[in-house]
Formats: sequence, C-alpha cells, structure tokens
Amino acid sequence: MAVLRIRHAPDPVLKRKTARVQKIDAALQSLIDDMFETMETAHGVGLAANQVGISLRLAVIGIPAEEEGQPRQDYVLINPEMIKKGGERLVDEGCLSIPDYRGKLTRAEWVKVKALDREGKEFRLKAEGLLAQALEHELDHLNGTLYIERMREQNTLDTLTAIDERETVEAAAG
Ligand SMILES: [Zn+2]
Repeated sequence: MAVLRIRHAPDPVLKRKTARVQKIDAALQSLIDDMFETMETAHGVGLAANQVGISLRLAVIGIPAEEEGQPRQDYVLINPEMIKKGGERLVDEGCLSIPDYRGKLTRAEWVKVKALDREGKEFRLKAEGLLAQALEHELDHLNGTLYIERMREQNTLDTLTAIDERETVEAAAG
C-alpha cells in the first residue's frame, strides 16, 4: 500500500468530470487500498479518485466510530449515483483538496445512493448525518464540483486557527 499525493485546488483534475470505471481488477483494488491509506493518513472521512489525480468514478469513505474501540465504517463506491435526496441542513465542511479552510453550506438530511462495491456487486445505501454529507461531498468531487462552489456566501470561508477547530473540520473533510 502507498500514500498517494493529494491534489489541491486549483488543480484542473479536480474540475474535470470523472469517467466511469470499466473494469474492476487487481489494479483498481490496489488503488482502492492506497486511497484508504491516503485518506487515513490525511485524517479525512472520504477521498475521491480525482483527488489523487485519477479521473475515475471511484471514491472511498471511512466514517469514524462513535465509540472508541469500534471499527471505522468503510465504504467503497464504484460508479456511484445519487438516486434520491431529501431535507436540508446547515453543515460545516472541509476538504482535503482545500487544506486549512472550512465553510458552511446546506446539505441534504438524507441521501440514497447506488454503487458497485470493490468486487463489482451493486448495492444501495440510504444514509443520514455525516455519512450522507460525505456521500454528497464525494459524488460532487466525481462530477468536478468542490464544496466551496455550493456555499452561498463564499466570504464566509474560515481559516483554521485553533487546534480544536482543526479536529472538527477533519471530521467532515473528504
Ligand atoms: Zn473534498
């Protein structure tokens, strides 16, 4: 496994819509393993393939356990599609491709997504809370959209100063 270099805005690969994955093979599964390792090293909760410079419709998500000692909840999303979403809530969000910033924006209360898992089997996922937010964030990445483009007032983007603030942001960075 390897830690990959995370691309930062304004790298053009982040703005390009990604291509669908055609073949799920050992090379793709090794990329998935590297993406998890990269996400973990960067303390993110998700990572899209174009954030490591690979313009494919592939993302990983790892939701930290609520209780200590419990395993992280990992999701592999190949060719994910948003089926439905509903509700609105104001969230704090950060992004590994826009380090040291965070912003407030509106995300759905719940989402329903379908995707293929790392073996190529289709699954559906209904999510709320942090997982729903991470799913929207990563699907946005795959369509070439960054969270700052969803903010109504872009001047509300805050710079991180305190260490405890940084921890909050990392909880919602992908
Ligand atoms: Zn991001």
